Amino acid sequence: MPPLPSIDEARAILLAAVRPLPPTNVNVPDALGLVLAEDVTAAHDVPAFANSAMDGFAVRAGVANQRLRIAGESRAGAPYAGTIVDGEAIRISTGAALPAGADGVLPIELVEVDGDAVVLTEAVAPGRNVRDPGDDLRAGATVLRAGTRIGPAELGVAIGAGRMAVLAAPRPRLAVVTTGDELVEPGAQLQPGQIHDSNGPTLAALAARAGAEVIGRGHAIDDPEATRAVLGEALEAADVLVLSGGVSVGPHDHVKPALADLGVRELLWRVALRPGKPTWLGERHGKLVFGLPGNPVSAYVTFLLFARPALNALQGADATVPRTHAPLAVDIERHPDRDECVRVRRRPDGSVEPTGPQGSHVLSSLLDADALAIVPRGDGALPAGTEVVLEPV
Ligand code: AMP
Ligand code: MG
Repeated sequence: MPPLPSIDEARAILLAAVRPLPPTNVNVPDALGLVLAEDVTAAHDVPAFANSAMDGFAVRAGVANQRLRIAGESRAGAPYAGTIVDGEAIRISTGAALPAGADGVLPIELVEVDGDAVVLTEAVAPGRNVRDPGDDLRAGATVLRAGTRIGPAELGVAIGAGRMAVLAAPRPRLAVVTTGDELVEPGAQLQPGQIHDSNGPTLAALAARAGAEVIGRGHAIDDPEATRAVLGEALEAADVLVLSGGVSVGPHDHVKPALADLGVRELLWRVALRPGKPTWLGERHGKLVFGLPGNPVSAYVTFLLFARPALNALQGADATVPRTHAPLAVDIERHPDRDECVRVRRRPDGSVEPTGPQGSHVLSSLLDADALAIVPRGDGALPAGTEVVLEPV
């Protein structure tokens, strides 16, 4: 039998099948979490005009102890219309336009107001407390790059740059289907042999965090026709289908034949990975199907390793989340022929240690995990101090 693909080989096979979703124009206030499909340039300088950084008095540059006549006011949104001349000061608020002829602003704390005059206690050098046009963004400069995910700061910068709408990838429409006769709803009283369906909500949460719109969650009992019906319906509506369980070759695993019936092309089945060996990835006319193993840690880890980068790529973002490195704090036994994703926490000295027991059913091993450490396959233990690759959780 040929060797199973490694994590990176499996990812490459998957990403080669991803067709990014066509972008649309989205009003900037509605674009939080979306990925930009164009560069954004500043339509004008930001700020667009010289303005005051302080509440105080705008004056011409000069010596201290001058007595100046208060000739008017420049307020935010209501500039002073005239030009300031020697012997005059203009009352000014933070953000208000610097009047023509003024060089600087002395804050209110450094002046003495005396009727309609003001006495400066300090000299004002040109530019003092003045924000220049373009201090923040220069007209014509690229301020956001295509592929950037729009967070609160990007949203504000795009609006400041003069945009009403931006070209952005839509959220991939994603359906989650769990399989298994043993599964019951959250909170249900467990009968013998039953378990709560934790994968459904957990995978939906991971998908939402990765920018998908979760359009539905379904469940299929361990029956060939039922599985085919549920998967067929989910595939109609969604761009991405994430399945948990039923993907092995046991007598009660019906996912693979159902997907084959539905015309989903197999991209790969099984990866040299622990946990998550029986992962199945497929594609139908650009729709992606993730047949993830049922064990909760396996489902979680394979979502992070495969579904997360594919969702990024569908949205036109960098597929892979940046990996880091850290030394192992302890020896870790290696699997002879599969790379292992060990849930680790970071110690104060920067080294990493397993969070606890690492069984693929021990979902609590993810609770205070800072990363997945990829422990390469091999003989014996990987000694403490060895640098390992960290995949973010
Ligand atoms: P399977 O891949 O269907 O053989 O399932 C492997 C293991 O994962 C079994 O112990 C299942 O009970 C468990 N499992 C399957 N689906 C879920 C789920 N949605 N939530 C929690 N555990 C699950
Ligand atoms: Mg099952």
